[in-house]
Amino acid sequence: MHSREPIVSIPIFQIMKDILIIGAGGVGSVVAHKCAMLGDTFGKITLASRTKSKCDAIAESIKSRVGKEIATAAIDADDVAATVALIREVKPFLLINVALPYQDLPLMDACLEAGVHYMDTANYEPPNEAKFEYHWQWAYQEKFEKAGLCALLGSGFDPGTTNVFTAYVLKHHFDEIHYLDIVDVNGGDHGKAFATNFNPEINIREVTAPCRHWQKDKFVETPAMSRHQPFTCPEEVGTFEIYRMYHEELESLTKHIPTIRKAQFWMSFSQNYLKHLEVLQNVGMTSITPIEYNGQSIVPLQFLKAVLPDPGDLGKTTQGRTCIGCIVRGVKDGLDKAIYIYNICNHEDCFEEVGSQAISYTTGVPAMIGAKMLVEGTWLKPGVWNMEQNDPDPFMDDLNKHGLPWEVVELPVGETGFED
Ligand code: NDP
Repeated sequence: MHSREPIVSIPIFQIMKDILIIGAGGVGSVVAHKCAMLGDTFGKITLASRTKSKCDAIAESIKSRVGKEIATAAIDADDVAATVALIREVKPFLLINVALPYQDLPLMDACLEAGVHYMDTANYEPPNEAKFEYHWQWAYQEKFEKAGLCALLGSGFDPGTTNVFTAYVLKHHFDEIHYLDIVDVNGGDHGKAFATNFNPEINIREVTAPCRHWQKDKFVETPAMSRHQPFTCPEEVGTFEIYRMYHEELESLTKHIPTIRKAQFWMSFSQNYLKHLEVLQNVGMTSITPIEYNGQSIVPLQFLKAVLPDPGDLGKTTQGRTCIGCIVRGVKDGLDKAIYIYNICNHEDCFEEVGSQAISYTTGVPAMIGAKMLVEGTWLKPGVWNMEQNDPDPFMDDLNKHGLPWEVVELPVGETGFED
């Protein structure tokens, strides 16, 4: 009788990586909670922001919900030297920027100097001009490549998941994409007279900016909110009025998928939201030009932010669902084809899981997944990358596993509700 070979079990070690999250707002809270839930992927988590008490409150919530301790710190992310010192102390593998778009460039500089990978959810915007464009961050391509570091841009929902949705349908359903309509519907109600779902300053700058959409081979500008139409969401979420506006993923998607002839972004707004916004604009409260008040220089929009509800607190009262997705038209095997790919997310379920409303949740979960793609090495490569430049499949699998399941449906060509 032959003696059996001993069975040698080789343990598969998952090397957990430490992360530093910057920004303790609505999105930062979801990212920190979701990363803490993945103990096999993320090692030590440090949450740093301008106001340390906000980090501590999130750390307490994580301890009670997830049972994991995270570290906290105070940081002014506009101060590159201070951030470099913090990175050198924490020694993270990756810095996740969920502060504001103004901090993108200082944080990219700090990552380069301290030698860590970088990720964010929104593209850079100069504080004194409401103009968000990728060229400032794309200019870092060579620096990150030379340093052997990776910068992943825009890993939220829109931008972020919408880019991955587009890359996914291109990979699996089309030979060429010709028309792209991204539709972001928030069918939820927070019960407040007026509030924004994410940072009010960034939200109002985005909504009041002139609209731009991609047509043929260039961006065409039209007045803000001048084009709108009804949209009926699937799964009885409802019918909503959606308004065409500029959104940053249009810039990267039309660059990386050059067959796109027309690309538009649409967002739902209630009449109540638009009425308040119009009045605030008319009285000058949405201006970003500083004014003198009682011997002090103040920016009206920043003052408005201070008196509006904190989006991070809206979870307690928000009911209803979001429905965000892409309607994509193109050709497959010589035939015209139309696909709708979307996620529906319930505000109350998000609140129960992590104490946040669905806008923060739908941004924070893809941020955690983008970080996971880098930490696990799946998308890690030197340079500056937009989401659609990576293989969409592992990200799409993780959306299903971590709270944002998606659906793909084929639509009758010519009945999508969007014009060529
Ligand atoms: P919040 O205003 O709720 O949070 C921003 C956080 O950043 C706050 O904690 C704030 O500190 C902190 N912060 C601001 N300036 C600095 C600074 N100089 N140094 C350190 N910390 C700073 O915003 P949200 O959580 O709603 O949004 C976060 C980011 O996510 C934004 O960039 C937004 O554009 C993006 N976003 C992306 C989406 C997507 O789908 N891609 C959707 C929604 C948002 P303090 O508390 O002291 O003010």
